Amino acid sequence: MKISLIYPPEYNRNCETFSLPNISIATLANYLIKNGYKNTTQHDLDILYFKKIKKIITDEQREKLENKEKVIAYCNDKLTKKEKEEFDFLINIFLKEGKIGKSDIIGITFSDLRTDFFLANISALIAKMAKDKWKTKIVIGYRSIPHKLYIEIMEKYKVFDYAVFSNFGEEPLLRIIEKIKGKNVELINTIENNKGDIKTHYNLSNQFPVCPTPYYEKDILKNYEVEERQLINSYYSQPKIVSEIFNGNNKEIIVPYSFINTCSGTCAFCANDPTIPSNSKSVNQVIDEIGKMKEAGVTGIYFINSNFNDKYSFADKLCDEMIKNNFNILWTDCANLRNIDENLLLKMKKAGAIKITFGMETASNKLLKYIRKGITVEKIEKYLKLTHKLGIFTHIELIGGLPYEDETDIRNTIEFIERNTNYIDIYSLNPFYLYSSSPFARMPQTFGLEIIQTRNQKPNFYKSPEKIGIISGRFNEINGLKWEDKDKQIIESTKRISDTIKKVSSHKFIDFEHVYLLTFLYRKLGWEKKELIRKLVKIMITKFKPYNVDSFISEVNYIKHTYSRDLI
Ligand code: SF4
Repeated sequence: MKISLIYPPEYNRNCETFSLPNISIATLANYLIKNGYKNTTQHDLDILYFKKIKKIITDEQREKLENKEKVIAYCNDKLTKKEKEEFDFLINIFLKEGKIGKSDIIGITFSDLRTDFFLANISALIAKMAKDKWKTKIVIGYRSIPHKLYIEIMEKYKVFDYAVFSNFGEEPLLRIIEKIKGKNVELINTIENNKGDIKTHYNLSNQFPVCPTPYYEKDILKNYEVEERQLINSYYSQPKIVSEIFNGNNKEIIVPYSFINTCSGTCAFCANDPTIPSNSKSVNQVIDEIGKMKEAGVTGIYFINSNFNDKYSFADKLCDEMIKNNFNILWTDCANLRNIDENLLLKMKKAGAIKITFGMETASNKLLKYIRKGITVEKIEKYLKLTHKLGIFTHIELIGGLPYEDETDIRNTIEFIERNTNYIDIYSLNPFYLYSSSPFARMPQTFGLEIIQTRNQKPNFYKSPEKIGIISGRFNEINGLKWEDKDKQIIESTKRISDTIKKVSSHKFIDFEHVYLLTFLYRKLGWEKKELIRKLVKIMITKFKPYNVDSFISEVNYIKHTYSRDLI
């Protein structure tokens, strides 16, 4: 059985200068191959679209691909012969460039689906042609997309046979494949479209199996390799101080990878469920997997763990093993400030950590206690300074408008930023969202909240200007603000924090991580030269070119506070 897994292109996935390979198709491929489906291949159309396809098609052809109505008409055989031929021509470019051949099943990840539906259009066009040509069954899926939206998409485009809405898609996809092969298996967390008869198969258990392992194909990794020349061509590099440093021909390949998705923390705003047993891999498994990635040419890892140090002893041992193996791999990850000390930070550095993200959320001790963060402002400050002193880039995460946040709390956060600006390199800032699986939403009374039930309202999936799937609940603070005023307070608080960051640093340091640039700089200069690295980053991001746009960016404005907190 031939299975092709596709990562379709999407606009504005992020604005980083270089992107990373997709972990979803790599993980699904690894799982299917291990379960006997050796003829499973990966097709990354995102990198191919922005590197090549976009340059060989005309603006008019691109507009056709963006036209949702026309694409739906193509899928439903409602176009004129000429129009159909034009679409056929375009789809064949994607199939040829992506080396997508005859397949029994095509799986398409809907990760980063945006409201412009470009990703859904490309997926539907490929699906339609594959179904007509080869009778291929089409599976789409990604967590965080509401299953009702999948139903809407399946009803409109009519070319998708299955949609997986599970947290982890490996087992649901395997079951779909076995069912297509004729086995009598029960589908889980899947929507099945049987010639227009749409059926949802729920199974809410099995949402956190073992932590997944990706298999990155060498051909795909090659497309993500960044050479020194490409790097400096994508940043402002005229000053002598830059050209003197970047005068070699180093290459880097950075991949996303995780060894734990669960977390024992109980932060009240977080979608994490602490009652789920840990799905951490063993130290040996992590070392083995890093070794294999290194063999495939990987030089850097962008860890996407829930946190590196959920268990202190695990993190300590992992660092020891990474140091012993001398991987020479540079990496970034987030770490909690509950289980940390100088010894661990030092080991993380020796093991290759170049940037650590700390989720601090607020600099109010009152709110840190209320959200059960398990840390104090004093502790945050101590370890930020220490991390900086060790030469590691620091990245903090903040939330504007947490429940019961008042003027004093906002002032505390603003003063914290002003006071520590020399020790903070990168910021993430989000307006508060009430996630349905968070302790806030599951136990609202414990936190003095009242959830406003809106189940009868039809959710509006298209309202958010950001990614589909970021959906918040509404609530009243029982002893504070009612929702309408709270929503305004969330916007105001987030804006004031972002204004402070702009004043002491720049909006260019919110959310942009520049992992490739950092990796090159640390590789060349080392931790001892952090001040120089800081200076160079500041100079080089004067202007930079994101991988998916054609021009350089020199101004960045933070607008996340204006995003609608729509709800379901
Ligand atoms: S915010 Fe981080 S530390 Fe807290 S529960 Fe979530 S994943 Fe764990």
